Amino acid sequence: MNNKRQDSGQYGWPTKKLERISPSTYGELLKCPLKACWSANRQRPAPIPAGPIAQLGSILHQLLEAAVKGKIKGPDLRQACGSKWKELLRGHECILGNDPRTAWMVPLEFTAFRFAEKLERSLGKAEEFARFNESSAGGAVAPGTSPWSAEQWLETTDKQVGGKVDLISREPEGVAIKDYKSGAIYETDEGTIKGAYSIQLKLYAAIYHDAHGEWPKFLELIPLFGQPQQVPFTGQECATLLTEAKVQLVRVNLLVDKGEIQDAANPSPECCRYCGFRPICGKYRDALQVPGTDGWPYDVTGAVTSILEQQSRVQVSVEFRGTTVKIWVNKASHGQKASLKAGDQFAAFDLARRVNGDYEVWKGSVVFEN
Ligand code: SF4
Repeated sequence: MNNKRQDSGQYGWPTKKLERISPSTYGELLKCPLKACWSANRQRPAPIPAGPIAQLGSILHQLLEAAVKGKIKGPDLRQACGSKWKELLRGHECILGNDPRTAWMVPLEFTAFRFAEKLERSLGKAEEFARFNESSAGGAVAPGTSPWSAEQWLETTDKQVGGKVDLISREPEGVAIKDYKSGAIYETDEGTIKGAYSIQLKLYAAIYHDAHGEWPKFLELIPLFGQPQQVPFTGQECATLLTEAKVQLVRVNLLVDKGEIQDAANPSPECCRYCGFRPICGKYRDALQVPGTDGWPYDVTGAVTSILEQQSRVQVSVEFRGTTVKIWVNKASHGQKASLKAGDQFAAFDLARRVNGDYEVWKGSVVFEN
């Protein structure tokens, strides 16, 4: 049996009203409110799990967090950072390995893009933070009483907007709010900071002002690769963003109440490419184009037109957008597909493309019941 095969429940995936707006996901919410409301339901995680790059990013983030919080100590800080990294990696890979949907990602060393490079950079940054912590006796304490505080929860006084800030440091000129990123911080055209990251930091600035009555002096992104980058801002634009975020919170929750949140979905290749809810998103399925066209993901849904049996594989032909898409399925690892017949519905996500233009269900693909 294909252990990634899942039941769509006729797409009845439960959405949830948002408790608050989180600055770290607000940019995504603006692109697709439906995704935000599905993500808010922790009981039903996305049918497609986050990939190896995101998994690695999450562990690296934990490593930096530990360093900033002063949890990495010892006579040889580099070695201590390495030990902490191994401990975090072991724990995370154990969880991934125990889930049939993610077991193929282990070891991340072989599946996560630029693993060695990112690790090297992260160890360097973690050592830097740990060294600073030792020399300044910094740590996780309230802003204003220490050189910095890590993973500080910030929320507006009405609790409508809030989230955890990676780093708040008190510098000679004033307060700096910083966020570290394991991926690229620029849009494709080098030099323009990703809109979602700017919005995130500006919202934190507004929340900080709301909670402490003081505007931060600096907003800064700390990438793994390249120099820290300041995000210019004005108090006025941050305050406007905060007001808009609160309006969005009311608007989105109203849509959930009225059962109209599905209508707010906004499918596009850019918006949906990494969304784990693609299999159960009706609007996505309606908008999806032939794999690869204009950047749409390698996903196919449609009726099976023919089956070609070979020794260890089955070639499934699917009619999709007026084109016949050929998908190869390995009988041993995806046995149920051997019983497919013409007229059956087929839906597969994250397929691999072959050089001859056919597609293949590989270990990272998710095959979904219609
Ligand atoms: S697949 Fe696209 S449209 Fe659907 S929830 Fe995800 S991001 Fe939104």
